[in-house]
Amino acid sequence: MLALVKTAAGPGLHLETVPEPKIGINDVLIRVKKTGICGTDLHIESWDAWAAETIRPPLIIGHEFVGEIVDVGSNVSDFHPGDLVSGEGHVTCGRCRHCLAGQRHLCAYTVGLGVGRDGAFAEYVALPMTNIWHHWKGIDEDVAAIFDPFGNAVHAALSFPILGEDVLVSGAGPIGLMATAVVQHAGARLVVVSEPNAFRRDLASRIGATVAIDPRERDLASVQSELGMVEGFDVALEMSGNATALRTAISNMAHGGGVAILGLPTAEISLDVNHIIFNQLTLRGIYGREMYETWYKMTVLVQSGLDISPVITHRFPFREFEAAFAAARSGDSGKVIMDWSAA
Ligand code: NAD
Ligand code: ZN
Repeated sequence: MLALVKTAAGPGLHLETVPEPKIGINDVLIRVKKTGICGTDLHIESWDAWAAETIRPPLIIGHEFVGEIVDVGSNVSDFHPGDLVSGEGHVTCGRCRHCLAGQRHLCAYTVGLGVGRDGAFAEYVALPMTNIWHHWKGIDEDVAAIFDPFGNAVHAALSFPILGEDVLVSGAGPIGLMATAVVQHAGARLVVVSEPNAFRRDLASRIGATVAIDPRERDLASVQSELGMVEGFDVALEMSGNATALRTAISNMAHGGGVAILGLPTAEISLDVNHIIFNQLTLRGIYGREMYETWYKMTVLVQSGLDISPVITHRFPFREFEAAFAAARSGDSGKVIMDWSAA
């Protein structure tokens, strides 16, 4: 089969012919239809310090996908050839305290699809049946392809009560954009998006932001008074990984507010802990998705009318992967989809 492979340590990716994945008795084999490009894939492609430390080539990369089941192991009874599915990209151990308690998102022994095991940028991908999520007939396959990052957005956006609340989203990358749509759909009163990139501010306004500001030009205090807010944001979703953005969010919260931190910083960040204490803030780290409450929520949110499709701005056949990666890297993009159906 054809696959996008990190063949050796160093920058670049190669479209190569490799053996199809073999499945065990508990596994599912999927013919990949569409995939989404994640920041993780960009890190692996460019071979930054994180990739050099984490990735062991040769490796098929990619973890955001939708596809059709073509084969199942002898122990699998819930999934059948022809089913349209996506996969949870975190393969958990199944045996640790948290896995046994049904809290698989807390597993400390997670292996990442396309990071620690061969991934989905290929004609076929194999996963344990415990990682497969059924889609319903008629779902937009481009939307189905990005359920993995949509899940990051949903998990973060719903980690504090949202109904009637004023929400700050810092960072309008694909995940911040989808989180904006989710909190708007879930009944937030005001959704303020902070994002330096003009293309992404425009997307944020179209997907549900009350207002999208450039943090280099406007401070949040003036935005709050313009919107008639008195005590600060009730919920903040930090989706940029930027230190200033996190500090700014914390200093603009209402007493008792909740800050969900999803954006991955590249270095340690110092915080005003007195401010966190006296304002009684809750800071919550968000990693991945809850298995499988987040997946259930994603499905019912889309079925109840949430439209995240505006976040998808570019589509490429997989053979044009270099152009697809360039679009994703440019910043003037939302989600970039690669189509594998012609393979
Ligand atoms: P992205 O890099 O496309 O988006 C980040 C956005 O933040 C960019 O648009 C950037 O312009 C903006 N930004 C930069 N400085 C800012 C500032 N000072 N204020 C406001 N915005 C600023 O990333 P993404 O794919 O949307 O993912 C969001 C973040 O979440 C990334 O840091 C990513 O590494 C991380 N991530 C975390 C998880 C997890 O499970 N915790 C999963 C996936 C991605
Ligand atoms: Zn575990």
